[in-house]
Amino acid sequence: MAARGPEGARLEMRVWVAGAVALVALPACSGGHAKGAATATSTSSTSSSTSTSTSTSTAPAVPPTTRARPTTTTVHRAGALAGKTVVLDPGHNGGNGSHPAEINRPVDAVTEQKPCDTAGAATASGYAEPAFTFDVSQRLARLLQDAGARVVLTRPNDSGVGPCITERAAIGNRARADAAISIHADGGPVGGRGFHVIEPALVAGHTEPILAPSQRLALALRAAYLAGTGMPTSTYIGHDGLDVRSDLGGLNLSTVPKVFIECGNLNNPTDAALLMSPDFRQRAAEALFKGLVADLTSGP
Ligand code: ZN
Repeated sequence: MAARGPEGARLEMRVWVAGAVALVALPACSGGHAKGAATATSTSSTSSSTSTSTSTSTAPAVPPTTRARPTTTTVHRAGALAGKTVVLDPGHNGGNGSHPAEINRPVDAVTEQKPCDTAGAATASGYAEPAFTFDVSQRLARLLQDAGARVVLTRPNDSGVGPCITERAAIGNRARADAAISIHADGGPVGGRGFHVIEPALVAGHTEPILAPSQRLALALRAAYLAGTGMPTSTYIGHDGLDVRSDLGGLNLSTVPKVFIECGNLNNPTDAALLMSPDFRQRAAEALFKGLVADLTSGP
């Protein structure tokens, strides 16, 4: 494989292009409702303003109040995240499992040496965590871009290897993200259910500047995910859907507000059935979107 440094630098550019392409390609999949609705709304607003300015006698049957309302909604929603940068880090990568030497090489996570990355968890039926994290990230990216945000993904597809956890943090830092989320699904105990959000711990000389804004982000995402998905908070780790960790390089090396979310437990049959459902993944993306909007529009 190519050297890590240049590859990482190229990755960010490719990711941005891939995100733009995805905007065109994704409405064909089951998650295209929001995009379709936005398109329909802008079309009707154009026709309504045209018909109003040319002639009142030829106005369509739709009452003016009905036509005007979605236009206002669209304008507000489109600009909600204008000027904001969000970095989405889909955990792991689809090629990690077949490249153990590259993935197992140690990197400096500040508090300890960790593997560059891992293959991630999987359901009993073989649905893989990296496929989940990439799909949710794509759905979330589209929602964020529709709301005017600049979105940077840490990997452009689900067939590659890496990047290392250190590079994933660096991508968020270079992007000067207003918020960064590392999206995962856990490989917890079979009998344990639910999601949890992981905040950075105090690591002296490293995480002080991001502790407060990361906690605010964590609380916003926890509330939105709980309300929007029906997934319970974790029964086996953390407290009330929150955990604090000092061992994650992705948090220790971040200079921008950042959290991890474990969206559910792939080892639990009930959670696994949800996580494998495209409808659930769309709900998860919409919930995370609402949490990000709440956090990024709530002031300093
Ligand atoms: Zn993971």
